[in-house]
Amino acid sequence: MKILVVNAGSSSLKYQLIDMETEKVLAKGGCERIGIQGSLLKAKGNGSEKEFNVDMPNHKVAIELVLKALSDEEVGVLASMAEIDAVGHRVVASGEYFTKSTLVTPEVLKVLEEKTFELAPLHNPAAATGLRACMDVMPETPMVLVFDTSFHATMPEKAYLYGIDYEDYKKYGVRKYGAHGTSHKFVAAEAAKYLGKKPEELKIVTCHLGNGSSITAVDGGKCVDTSMGFTPLAGVLMGTRSGDIDASAVEFLARKKGMNHADTITYLNKKCGVAGISGVSSDFRDLIAGAESGNSRCKLALDMFSYQTKKFVGAYAAAMGGLDCIVFTAGIGENTELVREKVCEGLEFLGVKFDGKANLLKNNGKIREISEKSSKVKVLIISTNEELVIARETAELL
Ligand code: AMP
Repeated sequence: MKILVVNAGSSSLKYQLIDMETEKVLAKGGCERIGIQGSLLKAKGNGSEKEFNVDMPNHKVAIELVLKALSDEEVGVLASMAEIDAVGHRVVASGEYFTKSTLVTPEVLKVLEEKTFELAPLHNPAAATGLRACMDVMPETPMVLVFDTSFHATMPEKAYLYGIDYEDYKKYGVRKYGAHGTSHKFVAAEAAKYLGKKPEELKIVTCHLGNGSSITAVDGGKCVDTSMGFTPLAGVLMGTRSGDIDASAVEFLARKKGMNHADTITYLNKKCGVAGISGVSSDFRDLIAGAESGNSRCKLALDMFSYQTKKFVGAYAAAMGGLDCIVFTAGIGENTELVREKVCEGLEFLGVKFDGKANLLKNNGKIREISEKSSKVKVLIISTNEELVIARETAELL
């Protein structure tokens, strides 16, 4: 079975074609600048790379070009598009309308377009555009929606509710939904496999630390709490997002800076986080270089990020009544030694014996254990693979 995974943004469309028998990526690539002058498809397959400099006024043209690339004589891997058994689409937000991956029907499409757009105004309309483009070009091929939020659907009410009027929650759906669900699901399952345990036997805290960061408590294979909220603005401070902040401080800041609602949300999403604290960059490589050359605000940003992440690890160990494993994943989790060290520092009381030497070994794409053999709590680095989860969920639904 071959599954095409599509991740559509407003002006981009990334894809992977995965063979489900081997779970190998047969081909992958991405369209950039859709609807903008200078659009381009970069495609990989057959051990080659090729750029298609073709005008892509919309997503339909983009997906047609992707299909052409998939059967291209140089980078192509398919004889015909009939070999694609289904398409899995990444969708950022589901609200309470979908709690698991869902096969697209006219009714599902209607709910996606009429109910969920306001929950993720930048992302969900783009996903729907990508979906409609695929439906146009491949009308006979089953389409599946895979949501970033689904893995968090098992959270209990006490974890996902905000302390607001319960009627307002019911009326408007304002609650915690979380994000990065496919990543948390993938690394938690990989950790169980690596440890030779069933997911039901383990209490794991998964730390997806990237430009957007979220931490999740996975008890018995199920999400019981997560750090992101109604939107990905909540939780730890991130590249440019503030993370958790007192709502009254937001109103105060908006008044002082003369920002309206939209400006304020843009400010909290784009101008804050470690970029705002350091005044240097949102990229942890720059922060580390800055801290090493004596920039105290870069050091502060790194300290804040690690401290806030550590607090979620502790909180979730308490919430689950124990801890067997901490997993680090995503750009920072997989590559930033200093953050992993600082997060685990002082967690001996929980049963963490951190292996400082193993932490410094180079990323080899494999699962790496960075706790000592005798550590009660295992600490692992696992490369995330969100596309594979989307492909697996799509295949399962068929
Ligand atoms: P992601 O959103 O998962 O792609 O993560 C992006 C972030 O990971 C970047 O902004 C960097 O801060 C961080 N990152 C990626 N590669 C490295 C690296 N080799 N060393 C340190 N940080 C890295």
